[in-house]
Amino acid sequence: MKQWVQNVRKVTPYVPGEQPNEPHVIKLNTNENPYPPAPGVEKALRAFDTNRLRLYPDPTAKALVDVLAKRYQVEPEQVFVGVGSDDVLAMSFLTFFNSNKPILFPDITYSFYDVWAEEFRIPYETVKLDENFRIRKEDYYRENGGVIFANPNAPTGEAESLADIEDILQHNRDVIVIVDEAYIDFGGKSALPLLHTYDNLLIVQTFSKSRSMAGMRIGYAIGTKALIQYLNDVKYSFNSYTMDQLTLALGVPAVEDEAYFQDTVHKIVATRERMKAEFRKLGFVFGDSQSNFLFVTHPQIPAELLFQELKKQRIYVRYFQKPRIDHYLRITIGTDAEMDRLLSFLHEFVSSYPGTAVL
Ligand code: PMP
Repeated sequence: MKQWVQNVRKVTPYVPGEQPNEPHVIKLNTNENPYPPAPGVEKALRAFDTNRLRLYPDPTAKALVDVLAKRYQVEPEQVFVGVGSDDVLAMSFLTFFNSNKPILFPDITYSFYDVWAEEFRIPYETVKLDENFRIRKEDYYRENGGVIFANPNAPTGEAESLADIEDILQHNRDVIVIVDEAYIDFGGKSALPLLHTYDNLLIVQTFSKSRSMAGMRIGYAIGTKALIQYLNDVKYSFNSYTMDQLTLALGVPAVEDEAYFQDTVHKIVATRERMKAEFRKLGFVFGDSQSNFLFVTHPQIPAELLFQELKKQRIYVRYFQKPRIDHYLRITIGTDAEMDRLLSFLHEFVSSYPGTAVL
């Protein structure tokens, strides 16, 4: 082995969902939004002057920060933006979890958390969710180097009450508590109102789900001015220009069109609720997802088999070969037409599977 190999920072990377490059795929595997971004985004794209690409973008990303501050009724100094919430979360781990004590997060959650912890040499302990994949708030009453959880959680879709989130904050006044709200627009209660009371709270959200812009890569954090200043200090010590000219120009109209945003979210929530009824009829078991996906298991049919069968139909869903969840599938809510195609295949498959009963 070469001597320098021991100096390499070795990491086991996060594995994102497949992005299949074939036509006529129904893609329900990475929780993207099936509807296009707000019409103003296309307008801004057509109006974009490529001559602007000669210039470095605004390092403060002021246009985007200002529109988000207005939307969430906070000061611009309370908003940090980054290249998707993955970037914002990674920066937050680096900035706020700089202690020798372990940070805490649920055993079943976004599988990037342990990757960042490993990468940045942050000690961590995972805390077991209960048998219904819910957080037991008392488990977070112990000494730690910080707390992070997603609400609603991924891949389960379960949302915790604001009272429980506040309780966790109350018991963790000496560390930073990050609430990852990637899916909050589809259900659950945002922790934003708690910002007035808890100066150790950081809320992270994204344009990737409810604003249909996963391909643009915009995420943001909202916290006290002090927390955002710390985040910016770390960002400027890394790369001043995280948000490019086009992203800044197209991100703004995505926030400004509140009516389109509300309409898209309502459509997805309506489809999700319809799917819950249909999946129940097919004998699937699942929790009360508040996100843009369902996390389902079937008592008779192995999840991995179903995952493979769906793939043969060019229907992509997500399967995690991990303890406690390897008999589940995470299925993103697509358009009604996409979900109907999924249902019609499932109906056929489940009703012909030995030992199953379709209602
Ligand atoms: N948090 C959670 C819980 C997620 O599921 C995702 C999506 N993979 C992200 C953060 C990151 O999303 P993005 O970087 O696209 O904002």
